[in-house]
This record gives sequence, structure tokens and C-alpha cells, in this order.
Amino acid sequence: MSQSPEQILKSVFGFPAFRGRQEEVIHHVVAGGSGLLVMPTGGGKSLCYQVPALALPGVAVVVSPLIALMQDQVTALRQLGVRAAAINSAMEFADLVAAENALRAGELDLVYVAPERLLTDRFLALLDELRVALFAIDEAHCVSQWGHDFRPEYRQLELLATRYPAVPRLALTATADEPTRADIVERLALRPDDVFIAGFDRPNIRYLIAPKDNARTQILNFIKGEHAGQSGIVYCLSRQAVEETSVWLNQQGIESLPYHAGLDRAVRAANQDRFLKEDAMVMTATIAFGMGIDKPDVRFVAHMDLPKSLEAYYQETGRAGRDGLPAEAFLVYGTKDIAKIRQFTENSGAPEAQKRIERQKLDALIGFCESASCRRQILLSYFGENHHEPCGNCDTCLNPPAVFDGTVAAQKLMSCVYRTDQMFGAGHVIDVLLGGNTERIRKFGHDTVSTYGIGKEHDRREWQSFVRQLVAQNLLTVDIAGHGGLHLGPGARAVLKGERQVMLRHDPAAKKAKSAKAKRTSAVVAEADESLFGALRACRAALAREQGVPPYVIFHDSTLAAMAADRPTDKYGFALLPGVGGAKLERYAEAFLAVINDHVSA
Ligand code: ADP
Ligand code: ZN
Repeated sequence: MSQSPEQILKSVFGFPAFRGRQEEVIHHVVAGGSGLLVMPTGGGKSLCYQVPALALPGVAVVVSPLIALMQDQVTALRQLGVRAAAINSAMEFADLVAAENALRAGELDLVYVAPERLLTDRFLALLDELRVALFAIDEAHCVSQWGHDFRPEYRQLELLATRYPAVPRLALTATADEPTRADIVERLALRPDDVFIAGFDRPNIRYLIAPKDNARTQILNFIKGEHAGQSGIVYCLSRQAVEETSVWLNQQGIESLPYHAGLDRAVRAANQDRFLKEDAMVMTATIAFGMGIDKPDVRFVAHMDLPKSLEAYYQETGRAGRDGLPAEAFLVYGTKDIAKIRQFTENSGAPEAQKRIERQKLDALIGFCESASCRRQILLSYFGENHHEPCGNCDTCLNPPAVFDGTVAAQKLMSCVYRTDQMFGAGHVIDVLLGGNTERIRKFGHDTVSTYGIGKEHDRREWQSFVRQLVAQNLLTVDIAGHGGLHLGPGARAVLKGERQVMLRHDPAAKKAKSAKAKRTSAVVAEADESLFGALRACRAALAREQGVPPYVIFHDSTLAAMAADRPTDKYGFALLPGVGGAKLERYAEAFLAVINDHVSA
């Protein structure tokens, strides 16, 4: 054994310390142990097999189903001076032969293969002749039928335990609930004691959720306000919305590309490639985009429409901030979205048991959106983790909404819906409550109903918020098959009879618009370092273009941010930056030191 894990961490990866459970897992594997590691996206799973791969003699075999990702990983490792290769069906024949020869000659530290290739007699025979350091089984939930992405060929990985009993096997996944974990342990013949579960929390992601007012304007303000010049993803529900939103963003001066399953394969690949390689590209996409994207510097994920469930929301927002720097998840949601999903569930023709689960998932999602307490606490408790302290990094923590006894307001709203015959949408009902003088009110004689003008203590915006909250609580329902008319929901009677209290919160959106400018805590660098940071990014972009690689494989934003703050003047100082190992010091110190020097002396 040449170097210790700690030495490798510093000399190759340039990181000063392990994170979370990395150290424990790495020592376990280096000592010959096998196991399952469950760690959220961005938690640093790759290091858990890459460091042992370098610490142990022989080649580490990394099994991954995502061929598109392999090349990324290999590119990043080569930048670090690590001898790595992929072997898969997407490669040119000549490259394939070269990689196999290197493997046979013992010249590789890591080799990435798809499971179906690993399991061929030919490949196994080749492995039999080699010294294998360890097997890393990435996306291990694919082994299990309970996981969300079952792949039959993963089942056959069982044979690794019997064929190579002395070689450590490390299974890794970001998402596995209890039954899935048990299944992985059994299928890969691991010991139940060797399951390492890191917390789900992604503390650097700030969760922001707002009622839909004008989704486009809200998203635009969000991007322009905090995220100009940064990479991000905007999720839309439909392909058409993706196309239109992307065009619109470009018109507004925000460079954006569309991505959805209806686009030509080549177009999708090209757009994805540009998103990875450029520093400030916004991908406007359906949820078809994201699986297997591990760009570390995605600074925001915005949802124009409600996601399918909290699981989906967590997975989609998890694509932000993998590099550990501040990132934001922004969601706007509207009453119509909620009604649409409800309707869809009810009319789906699914068995009742299935519908019940869907309803529960929707309720959890709405509860999350409408909540007045810490978003992170709700999210994490949904995944079975209880955090006792509010996080301080979500909208409700930063800007707590006031909750009040809204029974009277709810009663007024519901009786107004009732008095106007449960036929009208929120706009008209609110007009009646506010005592408006519209053509419709005159036409239907609604200025004579008992609820006319009884709601003047709240303004329109507040009433709209109350409607949304009552819909969320299922006290009002929206007839979207008709014309969006409001109906009384199942619990309405009890409220009208005064048997049930309704808690409402004041919508903080109006207030927030004014105070938002004040703090800018989600910035990646201090204001004084911004121009140097920009120059460093330009230098990185030029180097990346020269080599045809994504900028983040040269240095992450976190390294550039440290560079802009510390401003090293020589190689010794440069070597101390996080993310600068031996290979990168040799290759890049000179170029970046020149940028710093120019900047400081200018
Ligand atoms: P995962 O595979 O779990 O989604 P990665 O392995 O891609 O996460 O790691 C996420 C990011 O965190 C990467 O950019 C990686 O370089 C960085 N990282 C991992 N471990 C450390 C560490 N100990 N110190 C600093 N950065 C780290
Ligand atoms: Zn919070």
C-alpha cells in the first residue's frame, strides 16, 4: 500500500478533510470490508470508492448503468492524474481495445463498466487474471424490485460475492428506503451490519416556495435577482411549456436551452453538452432531464409547476449545489395545479388502494407548500429523519409567516361560494366579498346576496391566498372539468357550523418583495471578490474549451471562490486551495496565478 487515505485525499484530490461518513466507509473498505452506502446526491459518494481504489493494489471495477456518466467521471479523474478508463458500448472500437489492453497490462486504477458487459464470460475471464482492488456498485437500488429503477441485469451481480470472495464490494445509492436497502443487502450478499446511512439533509440548498402569481415573472425575478450568470434548471410540466419558456427566457436576456423527450436525440445530446460545458446556461426542461446529470455547480432549480410528489421534488432539487456551495430551490404552485393533479388521480382508473396512496402523496406535497413551519423539517421528517431545530435556511425560517385563527374568513369565503351557487371561480367570489361593481355581479344579482361586501377587512391578494389555503386543506375544491368553479369540500359543513377551527397564514409574498434585496446571503463569493472570480471563471472557460471538457473538471466554483478570496501569489499558496492536488497544481497553477497577479496589480 503506497499512501494512506488521508494522504491520497490531499495529494490527489486536494481536499483537506473527509466529509460526513466518508472516512469511516473508506477505512472499512481499505481494510477489506464490503457494505452498502446510502448518501444523498452531492454527499460525496464517489470518493468513497475512488480513494480506496488508489490505496489498494490492483484495479477498482466500478459498475454503473449510466454509460453517459462514465465518460464524465473518467475525464474528471484523468484531470486529477488518476489512471482511469471506461469500457462500454458507446465507445469507438479503437478506444475500447486500448482500454482493455491497459486493463490487462495493469495500467489502470479504475475501470468503469456497465453491468451487462461485466457479466460477459469474456470480461469475467479477463478479471480472473487481474488483481481487483474492489468492486463499486453504483446506483445499487437498481438491484431491487422495490427501488424506483429496477434493472434485471443487476440481479446477476450476485455472482461477484461467490466468484471473488476476497474482493471488497461497496454498493452505493442516493435513494433507498428500508425495504430497498434490505433487498440490496440480500442480493449482493452483504452483512446487515455494514450498512452506512448518511443523513438526507442538503444544508446548502435553500428552499423557497411561493404561491403562483405570474409564474414567468416570478421565475425571471428569481433568476435575475440572485442567479444572473449562473447555471440552473427550470422545470416545466409539459413539452410545450418547456419550448415557450425557453424562448421567453432568451428574449429576457437569460441564455436557455430546451430539453424534453419530444426533441430529437441529437438535439437533446447537444443541449445537454452545452449545459455541462458552459458556465451560465439555464436548462428549461421536463423531468426527462436530470437523471445522471452530475454537474456540480448548478446554482438553482426552479419549478414552474408542482412536482409529482415530495420524493420527486427532493430528487429534482437535489441536482442543485452538489459542490456544497449555496444553492436555491424555488417552487411556485397554484390552486389550479393542485386541482389538476387531484382530478387526474381521481379519474386515473387506478385501483382504490393506489389512489389512496396518490392522495396521501399529494396531501403531503400540498402540506409542504402551504406550511408555515420550516420546510426542511417537513421534508426530512417525510423521509424519516427528525430534526428538532428549524433550519434557518428556508423561506419560512428566514421570513416566518404569521398564522392566525382564520375561521371567520374561511366561513365568509365558503358561504359566499355557497350563496353564489358553487359555479364561479375565485376571482368572482372575491369580487362579491369585496363588494365590487362588475358586470357579472350585476348580471347575476350578486350584489343582493348576504355575503356581498362582507370581506373588506382583507385585500384581494389575501383572499386569493385564503382560497389557495382552503383548497389545500380540501375545504374548497376546484371544478377544473367545468370552468374552474369553486365548490364546498368535504370538511366545509363543520367549519360553517362553527364546529371546526381553521388556521390560516398571512401570505408573506407581498412583504417579501420589498425586503428581498436587503440580504444576499446565497452568494458564492463576497462582493469584493466578484470581479476576480469572474476573471478566474473566464480563464477556466478558455482552458476547458481548449481541451473540450466541462469547466468544472478543471476546478469547481468552490476552488475558484477560495482562489478569489485567498489570492495566492505562488505555487505554495496555490497548493493549499481546496480542490488543488498534485496534478492540477502542475497543470494549472501558472495560468491562474497570472490572472490573480494581473488583477491585483491592475
Ligand atoms: P455524489 O456521487 O454522492 O452525488 P460526488 O461524489 O459527486 O457526490 O461529490 C459531490 C461533490 O463534493 C464533488 O464535487 C466532490 O468533488 C465534492 N467532495 C466530495 N468529498 C469531498 C471532501 N471530502 N471535501 C471537499 N469536497 C468533496
Ligand atoms: Zn427552515
